[in-house]
Amino acid sequence: MVNWLFVFYRRQSYHFFRLCNAKPTATIILNVIMIIFKRIADIQKWLQIGKPGKATVGFVPTMGALHEGHLSLLQQSKKQADISIVSIFINPAQFDNKSDLEKYPSPVAKDIKLLEENGCDILFLPSENEIYPDEKSKQKHYDLGNLEIVLEGKFRPGHFQGVCLVVERLLTIITPDFLFLGRKDFQQCLVIKRLISLIKFETDIVVCPIIREQSGLAMSSRNQRLNEEQREIAPELFRALKEIKENRDHNQFSILRKNAIKKLEHKGFKIDYLELAKEKDLQTVSEFIPGQKLVILIAAFLQNVRLIDNMILSEY
Ligand code: AMP
Repeated sequence: MVNWLFVFYRRQSYHFFRLCNAKPTATIILNVIMIIFKRIADIQKWLQIGKPGKATVGFVPTMGALHEGHLSLLQQSKKQADISIVSIFINPAQFDNKSDLEKYPSPVAKDIKLLEENGCDILFLPSENEIYPDEKSKQKHYDLGNLEIVLEGKFRPGHFQGVCLVVERLLTIITPDFLFLGRKDFQQCLVIKRLISLIKFETDIVVCPIIREQSGLAMSSRNQRLNEEQREIAPELFRALKEIKENRDHNQFSILRKNAIKKLEHKGFKIDYLELAKEKDLQTVSEFIPGQKLVILIAAFLQNVRLIDNMILSEY
């Protein structure tokens, strides 16, 4: 007997809990309710016998504290897939800094409301024990090549191993037809593409554009930790990328980079990196190369909040 605990959250803005023995129909799922699964066995059971036969599944993995950036991935999933699943799991394995993990925002009730209002069909909200039931489940190593030693890989050792660990786990549980990722985490997109080829997993990766605030600041859950003064300064990261891009025809990258770093440091940023790299593999280059697809990437701290951003040279 299947005994599922479904958390129903109605569009009319109240929620109720129900122990359910029967599978809900697709109509109910798609039009009236969002189902929240906390247990792997339950979501898998639903995917096996509750999901309408040929319905395609779009999956948006997140760590919560949702904003327009996350919701844009959900919107894209709703356009491309029949059923959209969002996961919220703050993955300890990808935090190289304990205090960053402790301070990571987790407004679950607000997130549930946002997802429901934005037409998410299923929220997967597992506990740490579900994802990592024992030590063995954390002990995998992925050969990520150069991606693990440049940029984010260099400044956050072990981070991408943790990302791969959780993404492989989630993909295996959900087996989506489409996986939606944000270009805000440019290097992560390449890492996950590599992971998918390493584990020979079949899913279509859809990389969605960076959603920014009006100021240009790339939306991020970590922005919530910025105080008022830092919020004023934070869009300088975007401006620096834009300035480099706009001046690339008349100046060397090395000079633009030096000026940008000086300006940002003066505003109070501590720069981890500001680099120009090939889009396809993030091999860093020292100058603009005509005809090459390049991207400028930056990571910097404003006091203890670390922000990242990037700009591909063919846009803006
Ligand atoms: P996170 O919750 O930070 O792990 O992000 C979950 C997904 O949302 C990742 O694929 C991110 O790249 C994506 N994402 C985060 N911020 C943005 C943004 N400003 N624009 C587009 N996608 C984003």
